[in-house]
Amino acid sequence: MSDERLRRVRDRVRSFPDFPVPGVLFRDISPLLKDPVAFRTLIDLLEDHVRASFPKIDFIVGLDSRGFLIGPPLAQRLGIGFVPIRKKGKLPGPTESVSYALEYGKAELEIQTDAVEPGQKVVIVDDLLATGGTMCAAYELLKRLKAEILECLVVIELKPLKGLEKLSSIPFYSLLQYD
Ligand code: AMP
Repeated sequence: MSDERLRRVRDRVRSFPDFPVPGVLFRDISPLLKDPVAFRTLIDLLEDHVRASFPKIDFIVGLDSRGFLIGPPLAQRLGIGFVPIRKKGKLPGPTESVSYALEYGKAELEIQTDAVEPGQKVVIVDDLLATGGTMCAAYELLKRLKAEILECLVVIELKPLKGLEKLSSIPFYSLLQYD
């Protein structure tokens, strides 16, 4: 994977100390979204990784809310559909839900019960892995629907928060790692 392309993406992530609460160093991808060349490069890199890793995927599953910015363009590139996992109370019809702890606060995630058929192959996408609580909750929801989860994929992994330990044996990939 080209260092030049990775640098172009990394250069467009900025950091804000003590947001949204004291002690959290917030990694902001807004500049990445604002720069069409850097954003296209991000999607190119993710597409290359996914195509090289998995011959067949049915859906990209994106997590509320910044997974919704990255998942749909990636799914379009791959010529497949996108499925949202949302925060509680946003999805109509029958849903599965799971509650989990965040780096800051608590939350509940939901998926529509008919979103994925048993055995369908999915890759879960979010902007960032911190403690891993959000990704584990999404994994749990998809397991309940009996999806085959090929990989959990994020743009940014915050290494010191050890989210990867929580994911344990779940296949995981991050484009950028921060110490
Ligand atoms: P976690 O469940 O702790 O892995 O947190 C991951 C989720 O919270 C992702 O959806 C991120 O968008 C958001 N998040 C957590 N920590 C940060 C951070 N330091 N900077 C930006 N987003 C964060």
